[in-house]
Amino acid sequence: MATAPQLQVKPGKLFIGGMWVDAASGKTFSTTNPATGDELTVLAEAGERDVDASMAAARKAFASGAWPDMSASERGKILWKIGDLVDKYNEELGTLETLDNGKPIFESRQVDVPMVAEVFRYYAGWATKIHGETVPVKGPFLNYTLREPIGVVAAIVPWNFPLLLASWKVAPALAAGNTVVLKPAPWTSLTALRLAEICQEAGLPDGVLNVVTGSTRDLGRALVRHPGVNKISFTGSTVTGQEIVRESASTLKRVTLELGGKSPNIVFADADLDAAVRGATMGIFYGKGEVCAAGSRLYVDKKIHDEFMQKLIERANKTQPGDPMDPKTRFGSLVSAEQMQKVMGYIEKGKSEGAKLVAGGERANVGNGKGMFLQPTVFDAVRGDMTIAQEEIFGPVLAAIEFTDVDEVIRAANNNPYGLAAAVWTRDIGKAHRVARKLQAGTVWINTYNNYDPAAAFGGYKMSGYGRELGIHALEHYTELKSVWVNLA
Ligand code: NAD
Repeated sequence: MATAPQLQVKPGKLFIGGMWVDAASGKTFSTTNPATGDELTVLAEAGERDVDASMAAARKAFASGAWPDMSASERGKILWKIGDLVDKYNEELGTLETLDNGKPIFESRQVDVPMVAEVFRYYAGWATKIHGETVPVKGPFLNYTLREPIGVVAAIVPWNFPLLLASWKVAPALAAGNTVVLKPAPWTSLTALRLAEICQEAGLPDGVLNVVTGSTRDLGRALVRHPGVNKISFTGSTVTGQEIVRESASTLKRVTLELGGKSPNIVFADADLDAAVRGATMGIFYGKGEVCAAGSRLYVDKKIHDEFMQKLIERANKTQPGDPMDPKTRFGSLVSAEQMQKVMGYIEKGKSEGAKLVAGGERANVGNGKGMFLQPTVFDAVRGDMTIAQEEIFGPVLAAIEFTDVDEVIRAANNNPYGLAAAVWTRDIGKAHRVARKLQAGTVWINTYNNYDPAAAFGGYKMSGYGRELGIHALEHYTELKSVWVNLA
């Protein structure tokens, strides 16, 4: 197994006000490689005092010094430089991400890290284009609007795309002139710390980006409760999102939420079946299924069910878990033992509720045998009311459900609390667009799956959250709109 880190991972400190500091308590926690069980390094265990310090640094940098005085074009130049440095350090960042998360190095280096660079460059371009308007009001008055930064943003991210999802928040927040305290997930903090270093190298003034790490939910809670936070940008589970909304109600902090999903992937009989099989397997097995938009509910037209499922099972069986550090690997290790236990629990539930296990379902032995490897898993003959068809598993487990007509499948697809993404496979262009309109989801893919671009907005309907990330729409959530009246009489 080639997972021996060719990279010395140094112990992580907190990045506050441009300085690397230990936690006020002096405590640390350990972060491990899920593919081997080996400890990678120790990280600083931040607590309330460290949250106070990071908030003070972010507030100071927002209110005075180089950042508020900087022109939008200078901000844009720094963002562009961050993007270029992310490209320059692609190999190191990709390796850190893979060691920490267990995702294939192919995904880290060829997909995640390049998109991080693109996101920073995309928002570099926006820095100079965030502006208000003049408004044709009645009477002898001039009315115009100003788009102002909100203030200090608490950016809280999960472990599945650690650096990528941090970039979705940090880049637009900085483009609009905010300052940020970034909190990565406990299992995957390494690339957030490296990003802080890169931002400093790019010339970002001290205190504009701060990073705090911790091993428990208390750190996120301390951030959410802190009176110094003006906006919370959260990606994570729906349960945590609900708690954040409750906690932030008393101060009415601005909140955007990117939450869970249980996305329907609908294959009609007139689809290009080989393309749909590829889309269905990639839709659930990319990122080991630990993807918010994973196509975890597969609706298959009864007319092609047997042929389609046979092809799909063959492809699932070919997708075997491998050493994440091997460039040829396309399916890595789940992120942790806890996640493995949770996913295995759903597999047991699928079997006990009567779904038919047709591929995978077992742990796989890769390398030293201590990694969190699971076979890509497919259940057929799933009913819409089964647990595996209703709840987000967040692992490589596909639930295939048969349907007979268009209205039935639209009803079934929408009969779920989530509304993050959906896909439709058909050669009938009219049907494709009609179904896309009816699906309650923030993103609909037609004859494709898992496309992302810094310019294309992403976010959820229903229990998948509110607000949008990426594109122009994210910027609305990092600015306040001020209306100014001038008496011209
Ligand atoms: P999680 O909600 O447990 O944790 C997410 C982040 O919030 C972590 O940094 C965590 O430490 C922090 N946190 C935990 N409790 C908190 C609290 N009470 N207050 C503030 N912060 C707190 O989620 P997870 O298990 O890390 O991630 C998986 C979930 O994220 C899945 O549901 C997945 O669908 C979702 N997700 C959504 C998107 C999207 O764009 N919609 C993208 C990726 C992941």
